[in-house]
Amino acid sequence: MAGLLDDIKETLLMGPGPSCVYDEVYTAIARPTIGHLDPYFIKIMDALKEDLKTIIGTSNRLTMPMSGTGSSGMEACFVNLVEHGDKVLVLTNGVFGKRMEDVAGRLGAQVDSIQFEWGTPVLPDKVAEKLRGETYAIVAVVHAETSTGVCNPVQAVGDLVRPTGALYLVDCVTSLGGIPVRMDEWGADALYSGTQKCLSCPPGLAPLSFSGRALGKLNARKSKVPNWYLDLTMIMNYWEGNTRAYHHTAPINMIYALYAATRRILEEGLDKVYARHRAAHEQLVAGLDKLGLSMYVQKEFRLPMLNAVSIPEGADDAGVRSRLLKEFSIEIGNGLGPLAGKIWRIGLMGHTARPENVDRLLKALAACLKK
Ligand SMILES: *Cc1c(COP(=O)(O)O)cnc(C)c1O
Repeated sequence: MAGLLDDIKETLLMGPGPSCVYDEVYTAIARPTIGHLDPYFIKIMDALKEDLKTIIGTSNRLTMPMSGTGSSGMEACFVNLVEHGDKVLVLTNGVFGKRMEDVAGRLGAQVDSIQFEWGTPVLPDKVAEKLRGETYAIVAVVHAETSTGVCNPVQAVGDLVRPTGALYLVDCVTSLGGIPVRMDEWGADALYSGTQKCLSCPPGLAPLSFSGRALGKLNARKSKVPNWYLDLTMIMNYWEGNTRAYHHTAPINMIYALYAATRRILEEGLDKVYARHRAAHEQLVAGLDKLGLSMYVQKEFRLPMLNAVSIPEGADDAGVRSRLLKEFSIEIGNGLGPLAGKIWRIGLMGHTARPENVDRLLKALAACLKK
């Protein structure tokens, strides 16, 4: 192989993403690159769209992957749907809610937010109160807050947003492929994800879906979408219809990779995949308990794929993480913002969520914590 690549060490990825990659996905990336307008490639694109619809739980025609990581999906949702001066409400309880506020603000939206304590969920009662006092163009929330390990009540929030007429925007970067995502049932209008969390691909694409209502707002814009690369009015013409107009060159081999991952997930079966995540999570929590470690988030709000663990008194946060990586080739994540130094983030995403991986981590962690 070339240059430095021979010396890359295989790591058990148990952080907040990337996750371990399926073998089929690596194989897919190495398939021959063909043209982005080759009829055979278009067949693959169409098959991938159908797989994504199934995993996202939608019948939206506009369902496809954006070129770029999860954040490009976030940016694409806001840049296509926000017009200057629009009122946007963001429900924030972690890093990714904060990022949404930033993205919407840069587009000239009037951003309002409700801030919930990190490590606790968004409370529908607070949302209901806010929606009684003000009308918004968009209400946005993160399903699985990767910075804290909290699952937000997206169905309950959707039930509150729908009657107000606002568009409902949901971040499913970490949830997709790990817990049920039901875009149509939630009444979500714009949803995005990423490939390197529970879909177990390398980073590089952002699955995205827009409802008919979202598409209506996009088509009724008074001004052009202010970002050329993410403009869905043009990108749609490449992903749909008979003419398939060139916009930008699709990342061909990443699209093979994502297709291999969606095939693998649907062949295993979504219910089995979700159950595998849940079982790995329960095994982890029980094992941590035996080691005297406790979870940061209250039981009923915990995500299975992102486990926030309180760092015990006297333990060396960075020291433990660096030993895990150096001696055991296991990566776990640190706490962010107000949770820095307080939690470790242990990811059980996609291909990583397996009993043998949980065992390996628990043994390694026990060794690292021994005085
Ligand atoms: C990882 C993540 C993102 C950002 O995705 P990138 O691939 O890092 O750009 C956005 N939202 C959530 C909830 C995430 O976990």
